[in-house]
Amino acid sequence: MLLQNKQIAIVGGGPGGLTLARLLKQTGASVTVYERDRNRHERVQGGTLDLHDESGLAALRAAGLLDEFKARYRPGADKLRLTDEHATVVLDEHAASATFGDAAFRPEIDRGPLRDILLDSLATDTVVWDSQLASMQPVGAGWQLTFRSGATATADIVIGADGANSRIRPLLTPSRPFYSGVTVVEGTVYDAAHNAPRIHELLQGGKIFALADAKTLVVSAKGDGSLNFYTGCKTAETWARDSGINFSDAAQVRAWFRQAFAGWDDIWQELFAHETTHCVARPQYCMPLDQTWPAQPNLTLLGDAAHLMPPYAGEGVNMAMLDALELSNCLTSEAFRSVQAAIAHYETQMRERASAVAGDTMAQTEALHAPGALAYLAGLFSGDETTG
Ligand SMILES: Cc1cc2nc3c(=O)[nH]c(=O)nc-3n(C[C@H](O)[C@H](O)[C@H](O)COP(=O)(O)OP(=O)(O)OC[C@H]3O[C@@H](n4cnc5c(N)ncnc54)[C@H](O)[C@@H]3O)c2cc1C
Repeated sequence: MLLQNKQIAIVGGGPGGLTLARLLKQTGASVTVYERDRNRHERVQGGTLDLHDESGLAALRAAGLLDEFKARYRPGADKLRLTDEHATVVLDEHAASATFGDAAFRPEIDRGPLRDILLDSLATDTVVWDSQLASMQPVGAGWQLTFRSGATATADIVIGADGANSRIRPLLTPSRPFYSGVTVVEGTVYDAAHNAPRIHELLQGGKIFALADAKTLVVSAKGDGSLNFYTGCKTAETWARDSGINFSDAAQVRAWFRQAFAGWDDIWQELFAHETTHCVARPQYCMPLDQTWPAQPNLTLLGDAAHLMPPYAGEGVNMAMLDALELSNCLTSEAFRSVQAAIAHYETQMRERASAVAGDTMAQTEALHAPGALAYLAGLFSGDETTG
């Protein structure tokens, strides 16, 4: 077995890193996850995630965690309402029914419960919290990891699952993601029934995609009564910095939204009405579609660290979890004569798959931020195709 007597370090305890830890642990491998968050109770931000049968759900099935997922997912949260800028619903999925086993069923789960399912499947000492990787040096045939706290660790094999701003990626490739042309402003409204009652009513526990004027607004209900939203606008890459807006100042973001989304119904202003709604501006990046690098004997990447892409096809977390499944399969297969050969096989298929998905995602990002986006997306949904 390739992993016999090997110590594996996974840097990053997001959905990709934790799925890999679970899959490898099932085979008896020796795995430690080093995670930047101080502890497991740190709030997991962000909207809900829809898992796809052939990727996210396939990884959970292999990890023996589908029953836990079925107990924690949010029935109905996948139901979408597509609206124009006046909040007029042009397509409503609330009457549709699909369930596990249907390839088109994309059940939603909040990020926190997904992380909990994965963490609860691991021994408590598998994840070392408060371990932000600062640097890594080769030592013998393996690596020495140095954390921001000053602590160090060694490993025979390191997997970079540390997301968009990976510290590990530059050790494999100088290639950097390119700007997609769209910047999102993301925020959370707590107690949505009280703080954004009209949008809460429109959501019906599901999702809203509002499209007009080459701009997007995506809103998702979360299980804790909050809602998550993100606007999408075509801007220069440095807009967030150059605009001078302090995105944690609700009044400044409110003023920006009124002006940028002028002509949109007042209902949307509920999103920015409360001082507790702190926003973050995130320019959206995508990996180069032709990226490649030589396979190493003791180092690889998965998830956003390998193939960051914009969120408009709902594939990011699904790709990260499928990477974990494929990498685990390769590292535990009898078919490869060395860890390097296993990594080479995994990376070749991972880059090819992610590249195709990223290409589609970029086309979708473009189409949703162009004139005619509403009719385009309504057409896609009527043809039974889905976005994230
Ligand atoms: C606004 C928005 C909406 C999105 N919507 C969707 C959606 O609907 N569906 C979907 O599939 N995807 C969506 N995504 C993308 C999705 O969030 C990511 O693709 C997914 O989380 C990637 O998983 P990951 O495990 O690779 O990385 P991450 O989830 O980013 O996890 C990385 C982990 O590494 C840790 N870390 C980072 N640096 C270090 C370090 N130096 N040392 C140690 N630990 C470190 C982080 O704390 C984190 O826990 C969205 C993204 C955005 C920005």
